[in-house]
Amino acid sequence: MIDLRWKSALFICALSIVSIFLWLITSLTTALIVFSVGLLFYVVNHIFWIHQLNRWLKSPDLSQVPEGTGLWEDVYSSLLKYERSNTLKQTELNSALERFQIVANAIPDGLVILSAANTIEWCTSHAEYQLGLSLKTDINLPIVNLLRNSHFIAYLYNEVYDEPFKLKDVKNAESTLEIWLIPLATKQKLLISRDVTQIEKVDAMRRDFIANVSHELRTPLTVVGGFIETLSDMEGAIPDSIRSYFGMMQDQTTRMRRLIEDLLTLSHIESNTQAPDDNPINMSMLMNMLLNDANALSQGKHRISVQTNPHFDLSGAVDELQSALGNLVSNAIRYTPEGGEIKINWQLRDDQGIFSVTDNGIGIDQQHIHRLTERFYRVDRSRSRETGGTGLGLSIVKHILTRHQARLEITSELGTGSTFSAVFPKARIIQK
Ligand code: ADP
Repeated sequence: MIDLRWKSALFICALSIVSIFLWLITSLTTALIVFSVGLLFYVVNHIFWIHQLNRWLKSPDLSQVPEGTGLWEDVYSSLLKYERSNTLKQTELNSALERFQIVANAIPDGLVILSAANTIEWCTSHAEYQLGLSLKTDINLPIVNLLRNSHFIAYLYNEVYDEPFKLKDVKNAESTLEIWLIPLATKQKLLISRDVTQIEKVDAMRRDFIANVSHELRTPLTVVGGFIETLSDMEGAIPDSIRSYFGMMQDQTTRMRRLIEDLLTLSHIESNTQAPDDNPINMSMLMNMLLNDANALSQGKHRISVQTNPHFDLSGAVDELQSALGNLVSNAIRYTPEGGEIKINWQLRDDQGIFSVTDNGIGIDQQHIHRLTERFYRVDRSRSRETGGTGLGLSIVKHILTRHQARLEITSELGTGSTFSAVFPKARIIQK
């Protein structure tokens, strides 16, 4: 830039010196004429090159950059350099984008980028195939116009994306996709779709097998249990020396029956792809029922209190939720020594409904907490058995909550106590 300025200044200076010189040796008029002609040439030259620049800018072509003269030679050479580096960057950017698209399209999962308003911004070919989209025609269209599944729409708008969501029947009646939404920092969302049809089939076979075995075992076990009970009750039927064995047999058959009932419940909930009923649940009534059950189970050995926000109810399947929330209460009683305190709470926090059970019982070490909802995971097997546990309770709770788009939060400290909270999304809260 300094160069350019100097060139202009030099020309004006030279013209001024020549004009002054002419004024001295000829006349003022001659000097003025020469000065004006010089200036005119200066201006016309600039106008010519500005016009050339303007023409070139309308269709920039690196092979046809005007060369320019004088000061314009510098302008054009800078412009050429700038354009060359720009083109280079553009080429690099294009090839990076191309590489990204090749890699993204090679991923077997489908990827869709959604805008803040949930319209489609971009998607891979696998997403087109799995979700029946077309990038060409569906770009900028709202995803809910194309994936009209009500569960998907609820999942999208609930904005709780901790867990993936299973979408059935998109391509055909047999297909199952796992959809996971990941919020991006730019308020956009990344939708990942995975074809889990095969995994689902194997899982369904496993569930059916467990359900069938449990079902088949139920009848003989009921018969055996019945006989043991009858024999135990019959006066003189069992010699006193072996009576204690019958007590043990009775305990074990009761335990097996409980296990089978829990297995059947779990496989029933797992295989139930229907959304749960959306009935209004009177939380004050439910909390009272839970308190009564808790008192019956505790038999006066614990201090149990209930606190309910009476202005809010819940929508969902009452049987399922009563069983899940009741399970949290019964766990609190079973894992809190005599004289302990149990608080059952229903409140609203940040528009979410929180059902929580707090106890000052044995507590749980941090390392176990993330595994508690696994089937048969027990921190202390013997304690679980002693208190009639099957190791399936929290697994059932988690499934029921997931069906209601809710999540289970657990905070606990070994030796101090635990809080188990079921967190329900805003969409399930009914204001009275
Ligand atoms: P279980 O039938 O063994 O109680 P659950 O699935 O209900 O099975 O619970 C899994 C494990 O979580 C239990 O075995 C127990 O170790 C632990 N647990 C659950 N609730 C509590 C609680 N309130 N306090 C301490 N430990 C608990």
